[in-house]
Amino acid sequence: MNIFYAPPEQISVEEIELVEQEAHHASRVLRYSEGEIITVVDGQGGWYIGHITRITRSSVRIAISEKREAAQGLPRLVLGMGIIKQRDRQEFAVEKAVELGASQIVLFQSQHTEKNKVRTNRLELIALSAMKQSMRAWLPDIEVASSLEECLDLFPDHRLLIAHEKLDGEVGIKNEYAGETGLVLLVGPEGGFSEEEVELAASRGAERVSLGSYRLRAETAAVTMLSQFLR
Ligand code: SAH
Repeated sequence: MNIFYAPPEQISVEEIELVEQEAHHASRVLRYSEGEIITVVDGQGGWYIGHITRITRSSVRIAISEKREAAQGLPRLVLGMGIIKQRDRQEFAVEKAVELGASQIVLFQSQHTEKNKVRTNRLELIALSAMKQSMRAWLPDIEVASSLEECLDLFPDHRLLIAHEKLDGEVGIKNEYAGETGLVLLVGPEGGFSEEEVELAASRGAERVSLGSYRLRAETAAVTMLSQFLR
């Protein structure tokens, strides 16, 4: 099933307008025509079904026949990830995080991050397409923070979990977070967290989590952490 995206400002009580890429995709790629039924999400939990009333290459108008609200599951999962140097790996991490249900992604400049330029526009497009692909109705925000501290300051009320290697003891995340409203899952960049960062996280109450005795790449660590909260 093809799902289209329109932000809330393009949606009124009765009608939705798709523009730009979404309109192009419906009109030129999928060659929809008037009268066809179409599904739209607004990135804020709204699902709409309607039929096309007017279609051109740049605008598709849809008369809404049904609306549903998808609840955002709890706990809300934030992925806080040190920026990784290789763009394709960073993009992979963002795509998978959206598929796995992250509600927000913060890429922070870590002390061991080798590169600091992040193309948020591109990551936003990847997130949008991952949302549609996974049939979700919530579009996670993607933010860039200049340090781990700036990232943590965004979430004073969340519980923090930091993936850090070389841990003895239990592997994985115990299933004790059901009552939480928000969790921040912290993953380091290729170079790992600095000791200072680990201490900072600990001083904010972060719990250390082991993902096993072997070293995972940062994007694998992000996927592994998020997948423990699948629902
Ligand atoms: N070169 C770094 C490795 C970084 S791996 C070092 O030796 O410290 C990138 C990130 O993935 C780490 O910062 C951590 O957040 C996560 N990670 C990878 N393997 C892990 C494991 N076995 N347990 C917990 N976290 C892990």
